[in-house]
This record gives sequence, structure tokens and C-alpha cells, in this order.
Amino acid sequence: MSANNAYVIAGAGLAGAKAAQTLREEGFDGPVVLIGDEMERPYERPPLSKDYLLGKAEREAIYVHPESWYTDNGVELRLGVPVSGINAAAHEVGLADGSWVGYTRLLLATGSSPRRLPVPGADADGVLYLRRVADSDQIKAAFQAASQVVVIGAGWIGLETAAAARLAGVEVTILETAALPLLRVLGPEVAQVFAGLHRDHDVDLRFGVQVSEILSAGGRVRGVRLADGSHVPADAVVVGVGITPNSQLAEAAGLATGNGVVVDAALRSSDPDIFAAGDVACAYHPVLGRHIRVEHWANALNQPQTAARAMLGQDVAYDNIPYFYTDQYDLGMEYAGYVEPGGYDQVVFRGDVGQREFIAFWLAGGKVLAGMNVNIWDVSEMIQALVRGGRAVDPARLGDPGIPLDQL
Ligand SMILES: Cc1cc2nc3c(=O)[nH]c(=O)nc-3n(C[C@H](O)[C@H](O)[C@H](O)COP(=O)(O)OP(=O)(O)OC[C@H]3O[C@@H](n4cnc5c(N)ncnc54)[C@H](O)[C@@H]3O)c2cc1C
Repeated sequence: MSANNAYVIAGAGLAGAKAAQTLREEGFDGPVVLIGDEMERPYERPPLSKDYLLGKAEREAIYVHPESWYTDNGVELRLGVPVSGINAAAHEVGLADGSWVGYTRLLLATGSSPRRLPVPGADADGVLYLRRVADSDQIKAAFQAASQVVVIGAGWIGLETAAAARLAGVEVTILETAALPLLRVLGPEVAQVFAGLHRDHDVDLRFGVQVSEILSAGGRVRGVRLADGSHVPADAVVVGVGITPNSQLAEAAGLATGNGVVVDAALRSSDPDIFAAGDVACAYHPVLGRHIRVEHWANALNQPQTAARAMLGQDVAYDNIPYFYTDQYDLGMEYAGYVEPGGYDQVVFRGDVGQREFIAFWLAGGKVLAGMNVNIWDVSEMIQALVRGGRAVDPARLGDPGIPLDQL
């Protein structure tokens, strides 16, 4: 049992590490305890499906801080031990090793977990998920041994993994229930760009299909059966069918939850001494005027800085425009803004879509809800300003590359 004046952070990922860093940068000199169920100190996940998976980045490059940072900054790092419960009345968290840690303020930064594939045979060896560094190591090894990989799910993780597999020289089939990749996030106009990208790299894309069973021999995956009875051979299967927030601790403690831990703009939960940030937080966004949960790196980097300040009693609100990026083959892009599935009435392109050098804007009632710059750089801040501005723009001018974005 540690002192009750501690600031405790459950979840030692990017969000947890950034919160600890901000507490120290803001001058907090009391105990900070960062508790994580993984054995690794906090690391960043984007390289796990990109440069680290491709063998282009060293393991050391993924960590948020050097190992010495935690002792140098007096942050007590407790790794390999999950937080198993919160006693909000007593201001304590219980750990799976039976110990208890008292807190003055608690941050939930427990992130999210991959959805499991709910079909028979999915427990076969060679059916792989990608969330942790060990998963990336396993997938990298599978790419070296495999000749045919099936990727289930054409979301960001599935597409990035498919690109890595192709670059490793493996044949890839992507199976997706929707009619296009990323359809819910991007809509058909821009989703087609990603379908074309993967087709150009000889990925076998199968849309509108339903996986009914994983086929194996001797416990090892051999292929995938589809609902129409057809069979796709595979010696490894990577599943990327979405993630769910790790909000079980909050639910069990009786906090408001629903698509994550429900928090206000200061990242405070329904318990005034408990906060949440990163993938697990469903936060009120003052610019968007609604609660959203953002499953992206920039949110896990920035949101905990606001949470830490709020934990210290500062009057703050998190209102960054949601932002994410992807790299696949030679396509790099940034996306800023937020669009509900089907929540736009127009897409405006600026630039050369065929060459994959363009900006796409999603509009509703003439207002820019989101923009995506593909292989065009140093424009995301201007796109974010358009989204934040919330005023109607002329679509013809928006689509004209001759008119600077900051003069619309
Ligand atoms: C392979 C991959 C590639 C990605 N690529 C991109 C990208 O290109 N662009 C982008 O914007 N985003 C990307 N993301 C998303 C981004 O990495 C996440 O949004 C980010 O990791 C969220 O950080 P977090 O700290 O909130 O959660 P996490 O990174 O999930 O960290 C939470 C930590 O808490 C631990 N934990 C959970 N429950 C407990 C408990 N009860 N007790 C103790 N510890 C617990 C978890 O094991 C984990 O270590 C990618 C994600 C993955 C997996």
C-alpha cells in the first residue's frame, strides 16, 4: 500500500507515459505511479505495422522514453501487473498481485484491445492479431516463413499489414465484409483510392465476403472458409477487425461508460478524482459539440497532457481536432477532422487523385468536416483551421490548387 497522495496511472502505453511526463513538467513533486500489464516500458504502436514490422526500425526506437527517464523523473513504473479493480470510495486501486495502491487522482489510460474473430477454428496457430510488440515480432516471423497470407479486415491495421506483407514478398488476400476498404471512415469516393493502391501492389482484394471458419491441419492454420463455401488457402492469417476500449475497470467501479470511459472536456470521469485519456476515453469535444472516442496516436500523445493538467486542478479543455496518419507502400497521408459514417454530403478533391497526390475534403452544408492530404505535406494545420473555423467555403475554390488553403 503506497501513500494516498500518489497520482496513479493505470495503463503504461503512450497516453500513460505522456501523462506522467506532463505531471513532472507541470512541477508536481509527489509520487507518480505508472502501472502496466505489459512487461515492456511504454512504447508507441504505429511502427509495429510499419517500419518495425518491415525490419527498418530498431526496437529501441519504439519506446516513449529511455529506460533511465523513469528513475530520473521519480516515476515509479510497475510493469507486468494489471490493475484489477478500483475502490473509488477508498481511493485505491487493486493490483492482480494482491497489492493495493492509494491515489489522490487516478488516470485510466488502459487503451484498447483487438476484437477477436468470432468463428470456429480461430484459435489455430498462425491466426495472428497486431497490438503489442510481441505480435509484430510474430507477424514478421510469419511473413518470413509464409508464402500466402490472408488479412481479415480492410481497416487501417489490415491495410498496413497487407502492405508490409507485400513488401516482404508474400502473396496477400484481403477479406472484407464491406464493399470497399475503410468505407465507414472514408466513404466510397476516397475508399476507392486505397482499393486501387493495394490492387496496384497485386493484393487480391475480396469485398462483400463473410468469413465463416478458419481451417487448420494439426492445429495450424491452412486457410479460410467463406460463407459462400469457397476456400482461401493461407499459411498465416492476420485479423484486423477493430478494437474495443479497455473500460472494464471503469464499468466495474460504476463510472459512466459507453464506447469507453465517458469524460468531460477536461477528461474527468463521472468520479471527480478519476480521469481517462487515449484510446479508452470517450471525451466531450468542445469544437464538435459531442462525445467522441479517438483511437489514434496523436490523441494518445496530446490528450493526456490536458488530463494531467486537469488532475493538478488547472482549468483546461482538450479541443484538438482529431488527427491520424498512415503509411502504406509509397502513400503517406494525414487526416484531420471528424465525419460520422455517411455524415457528409460532398467530397471535394484538390490535386491529382490518379497520381495519389491530392487533398480530399468532406463537407456538409458547405462546411469542411475533415480533410485528408495524400502525399502532400505541410498542409494539415491549414486543414485543421478550416475544420475548426466551421464556416461554409466555396467548393470550387476549395478544389482549386491555385488558391492557398489559408485564403479560402
Ligand atoms: C499496429 C498499430 C499501428 C497503429 N498505427 C497508427 C497510425 O499509423 N496512426 C495513428 O494515428 N494511430 C495508429 N495506431 C493507434 C495508436 O497506436 C493508439 O491510438 C495508441 O496506442 C493509443 O495509446 P493508449 O496509450 O491510449 O493505449 P495503448 O497503446 O493500448 O496502451 C494502453 C496500455 O495499458 C495496458 N492495460 C490495459 N488494461 C490494463 C490494466 N487493467 N492494468 C494495467 N495495464 C493495462 C495495455 O496493455 C497497454 O499496454 C496504431 C495502433 C496499432 C496497434
